Amino acid sequence: MTSSASPAPPLGSDGAVVVVGGGPAGATMALYLAHQGYQVQVLESRQDLRRHDVDAGRSINLALARRGIVPLTELGVFDQVEPITIPMAGRIVHATDGSTNFQPYGLDGDDAILSVSRPGLNAILLDAAEETGNVSIEFGQRCRGVDWDEKLIVFTDSGNDDQMTQVPFGTVFGCDGANSEIRQAMQRVNGGTTTIEQLDHGYKELEIPAGPDGSFQLDPGGLHIWPRGQLMLIALANPGGDFTVTLFMPYETPDGKDQPTGFDDLEDQAAAEAFFAREFPDFVELVPDAGEQFMANPTGDLGTVRCTGWSRGGDGVILGDAAHAIVPFHGQGMNAAMESARLLSRRIAESGDDPDHAFTLFEMDRKPDVDAIADMALDNYIEMRAGVADPDYLIKRELALELERRFPEVMAARYGMVMFTTMPYHEVQERSAEQQRILTDLVAGAGSIDDIDFDRARELLTELGPLPAEV
Ligand SMILES: Cc1cc2nc3c(=O)[nH]c(=O)nc-3n(C[C@H](O)[C@H](O)[C@H](O)COP(=O)(O)OP(=O)(O)OC[C@H]3O[C@@H](n4cnc5c(N)ncnc54)[C@H](O)[C@@H]3O)c2cc1C
Repeated sequence: MTSSASPAPPLGSDGAVVVVGGGPAGATMALYLAHQGYQVQVLESRQDLRRHDVDAGRSINLALARRGIVPLTELGVFDQVEPITIPMAGRIVHATDGSTNFQPYGLDGDDAILSVSRPGLNAILLDAAEETGNVSIEFGQRCRGVDWDEKLIVFTDSGNDDQMTQVPFGTVFGCDGANSEIRQAMQRVNGGTTTIEQLDHGYKELEIPAGPDGSFQLDPGGLHIWPRGQLMLIALANPGGDFTVTLFMPYETPDGKDQPTGFDDLEDQAAAEAFFAREFPDFVELVPDAGEQFMANPTGDLGTVRCTGWSRGGDGVILGDAAHAIVPFHGQGMNAAMESARLLSRRIAESGDDPDHAFTLFEMDRKPDVDAIADMALDNYIEMRAGVADPDYLIKRELALELERRFPEVMAARYGMVMFTTMPYHEVQERSAEQQRILTDLVAGAGSIDDIDFDRARELLTELGPLPAEV
């Protein structure tokens, strides 16, 4: 995809195209719009992450998968992103006794998700947007509200709340994250609704430092998981040899636990150290200061945003976490945000001069999909923290991979359809529910997959019809 030489016709009445928020959704959307020939103004509340350390020195990484890779490729930036990624070809599950078990994501080791630095990826997108010559970005500008009648967005300077600016717009793209001001401003006038389902579990980021000479203390080629029933630890490698670790845990110690196992109950460093030594002894060997890190780092909340009313005529639309924030257990929030930018830009291109129509169709198509990934992300938490070590889960997983190997035209594991395809999420959800019923039926009474009747398996799967098509 290349930038068009002459500007596209304006989306809104006076032509100013404003993107609020310069995170994954905003930067991707701005770049798509720039490639379509629009002049775009991005306003972001934080300082420029290319010049300031906006994450307070922490190395934060994310899993990038196909739904993110496709837009990056279409936009011509994946070649720059790939060198800063580390492929993870499966899960490396750590048992309490310190033993590990590698569970590949795909059949041949080719299917890998990519660990990528959040600021590194964002910086590449912002640079690419500016390089088109069609995008200007202003940092330190916090959106405070929208006057839809006058077509003005109100911003304050992040360093000085008294310093207010009014920015005229023709069309605004609200990419300002889960607490979106644009969503709230829009819903005050368009009758949409928002529900925010807060999880009673939170998260805390920790770090496994690099070993001598920047070596990795664990295998970087997999996503490490320490599943512990009600809680889990995960770790993704960074190119510098360190790992970003995330502890997911309830706020309150669950019933039946005689030791503190909740964020609110680990009150001091000694309690945190005892917790890590008990739950994750092999982790503590790598991170002797785990208790100190636990006390020093903030605890983050997790939640799902479901809302309707994503647009106001052709004047504005929301996407990314602003419209569909999800819990992070499928590693899909950012991937979904970038996929939304791709699908919305396609709608805009198809709609000619009718952004209202484009935005309406975008929500109609996309809403069932983001609801589906929201549910699947919640399900995956249960699977990751418990199911990965569960024998029933393991036999079904082994069988699913075997069926995929034998009958790839009618069988694909849900994880793979979510992570390695662009099949619509709601079709993936429906298909995998049907497949799951078949797997449950097939494994009933089977001790191992040698006991499975594969002819029957093929028949049952064939009755489901072909796999969903990619979009
Ligand atoms: C612990 C954790 C792990 C995760 N891991 C993964 C993963 O592995 N893979 C994955 O795909 N997703 C992951 N996610 C989800 C992912 O972080 C989000 O889905 C993604 O960042 C959404 O992008 P966005 O641009 O919509 O929103 P955001 O990333 O929140 O960006 C919004 C931007 O808008 C700016 N902004 C906010 N308010 C205003 C305002 N009022 N005015 C102006 N600017 C504003 C913010 O500063 C920010 O730059 C994870 C999330 C968490 C919490």
